Amino acid sequence: MISDKNTCLHELKDKIKEFVKEREWERYHHPKELAISMSIEIAELLEIFQWEEKECLGLLENNQQKMERIREELADVIMYALSISNQLNIDLSQAIIKKLEANKIKYPSEKVLKEGLYKKKTY
Ligand SMILES: [Mg+2]
Repeated sequence: MISDKNTCLHELKDKIKEFVKEREWERYHHPKELAISMSIEIAELLEIFQWEEKECLGLLENNQQKMERIREELADVIMYALSISNQLNIDLSQAIIKKLEANKIKYPSEKVLKEGLYKKKTY
């Protein structure tokens, strides 16, 4: 069974590339259109939580109907992200590690733990 533990990012990117090519959708998949579509899928993910009290994670995970909707919308979001990386030949693994390293510098753990989770903005 396919899972995160046994699937590489490039395999998913190849599957998405193949799906798009089989349908000749490359002509529609300009990065701008993909980013817009990704944003719409993020809105669909947010809609699941709209106007609801925050549930503790255990309750949320036990709500199978809601979890299935979350799974589907999250997959839509990630598939568009992978499509953008395909179209622009972005190595996502490199990009994620690079960004994570930048975030480590921007938010050093010692400072975050000392000053709180989020730095308060001063206007
Ligand atoms: Mg969707």
